[in-house]
Amino acid sequence: MTPLKDTFGRVHDNLRISVTDRCNIRCFYCMPEEGVKFFAREDVLSFEEIEKFVRAAVPLGITKLRLTGGEPLVRRDLPTLIRNLTAIPGIRDIALTTNAVLLEQHAEALRDAGLQRLNIHLDTLDREKFHKITRRDDLPKVMAGIDAAVRAGFRIKMNIVAVKGLIEPDIVPMARYCRERGFEPRYIEFMPLDAQSLWDRQQVLSADDMIAMISREIGPLEPVPDADPRAPATEYRYLDGGGTVGFIASVTKPFCLNCNRIRLTSDGKLRYCLFAIDEMDVKGLLRSGAGDAEIQAAIRQNVADKWLGHEINSVKFVPPPRPMYAIGG
Ligand code: SAM
Ligand code: SF4
Repeated sequence: MTPLKDTFGRVHDNLRISVTDRCNIRCFYCMPEEGVKFFAREDVLSFEEIEKFVRAAVPLGITKLRLTGGEPLVRRDLPTLIRNLTAIPGIRDIALTTNAVLLEQHAEALRDAGLQRLNIHLDTLDREKFHKITRRDDLPKVMAGIDAAVRAGFRIKMNIVAVKGLIEPDIVPMARYCRERGFEPRYIEFMPLDAQSLWDRQQVLSADDMIAMISREIGPLEPVPDADPRAPATEYRYLDGGGTVGFIASVTKPFCLNCNRIRLTSDGKLRYCLFAIDEMDVKGLLRSGAGDAEIQAAIRQNVADKWLGHEINSVKFVPPPRPMYAIGG
């Protein structure tokens, strides 16, 4: 089959699957503190429906999956889904993004199911600051989850959301912590995806500022030569060989031209961009007995509709109708 190419020539091989919009913490840049309206359970795709979708997507060239949410570990029996997805011929890589609050209980089962890579979301090592950001006092659980993941043998990247005026004191300690433990930190510029429209450009701590902070305090960084241009993070490395550091500069240096991703939400909508306004319903197809050909036609159409990129830096920008937790970051 011809590859999943959009009208700008970008080939798509990467599918992000949100398995739930629910979460056990309440990061202010993603969720409201109270009164979150979650999808009704019957609107959330079953494991069988997700697997059916993936099986149809593989012949179109999808080889890499990332499971996300909401918090994917609140979805019961997640290792079963991972085991089944790993077994689909053509799937070469599965990763999971998690806040690690429940990871201590699940790390080993996830590894046994075939998962190899974890992105753990942690902005700070300071318990009070963690509580303030997430509105939950769960840092000890996260640390226990990270230890369990290390014991289980995972490769770990650490997602740090960079909110200016808040996170500056944590940038260097997080880099040091990751360097010592052999994790790759990935600093993600704060994006306009929070549920309460709190985002404002002045609150974006830029990748350039963070590179300068880390280079000054820990040691000089240089761009990694021959890094994968289609990866969202721009990779840097310490000149002294102390590891790599990634920066996701979605606001100050958008990387839309290299995008190779599509997204399936937990309520069965296909989205060609994190910031897409339009989305395509595939739950209806999956529940009405559609065959692979119909699902593939829907995926091709969604990719054909894909825009050149988000417009965060333009006056035309309109935030998406769903906040981060309901899309799947
Ligand atoms: N609950 C999991 C977690 O927190 O990692 C998975 C879902 S969460 C929506 C995925 C990632 O989105 C998080 O790791 C966090 O780094 C990122 N994120 C959430 N809100 C964001 C925002 N407004 N701007 C930038 N990144 C954000
Ligand atoms: Fe939950 Fe992840 Fe959103 Fe934080 S960023 S509220 S952990 S879904």
